[in-house]
Amino acid sequence: MRTHYIAGNWKMNTNKADAVKLAQDLVKELKGKKNTYMIAPPFVYLDAVAQVVKGSNIILGAQDIAANDNGAHTGEVSADMLKDIGVQTIIIGHSERRHEIGESDMLINAKVLKSLSKGLDVVLCIGELLAEREAGKAEQVCAFQLDAGLSGVTKEQMSHVTIAYEPVWAIGTGKTATPADAESIHAFIRKHIAKLYDNKVAENTIIQYGGSMKAANAAELLAEKDIDGGLIGGAALKAETFVPICIL
Ligand code: PEP
Repeated sequence: MRTHYIAGNWKMNTNKADAVKLAQDLVKELKGKKNTYMIAPPFVYLDAVAQVVKGSNIILGAQDIAANDNGAHTGEVSADMLKDIGVQTIIIGHSERRHEIGESDMLINAKVLKSLSKGLDVVLCIGELLAEREAGKAEQVCAFQLDAGLSGVTKEQMSHVTIAYEPVWAIGTGKTATPADAESIHAFIRKHIAKLYDNKVAENTIIQYGGSMKAANAAELLAEKDIDGGLIGGAALKAETFVPICIL
């Protein structure tokens, strides 16, 4: 049985004091709890939060990474820099980066390969737009994003990859996929991973759901067979809304 992997994506929120306080509260409240936990603060607060989560059961994540190594890449943050301050996991291909910033599947794949080659874990986000869902293309879009994002990733490296299925129309909108709808895509994703690799890799891959997950809907989503955790935005910004999901 896969344990739940609950991750908080803080996006472009908090200030330094609030970030440290939130991390301190989470360290205290999640101590000894059984699931896997990750938080991804904004880049500028990673170092401060790293000091707080050090030695705890909370993994430090970053919300993005450069596809390049150290060098002349203005504004970018490299794998070596992130590792240097204790980051272990990178969220890659979040829909806000795909659709606000215009990140391509090719760039996302380069970031995945760079992270894995540097010994960092990856949460690869995939998911369809509302128009794509309404056109009956949700599975097709997810399959394409998996094929592209995982291109060149070996079977062995897959133990360092988590997939986050995040229907774009459900992110930050208050609209959640029904547990049955989410489960149907999660099962499809797992089958597709089996096609790309094998059944064992598919069975062992953690597939998180993301999209307005909160305490009120998390239990029924997480009860589905192929939903192994959550990537949480809004509800991850306060210990009182995040912890109840973490301890389910
Ligand atoms: C996310 O940030 O990946 C997300 C799912 O956000 P929210 O929970 O706010 O919908």
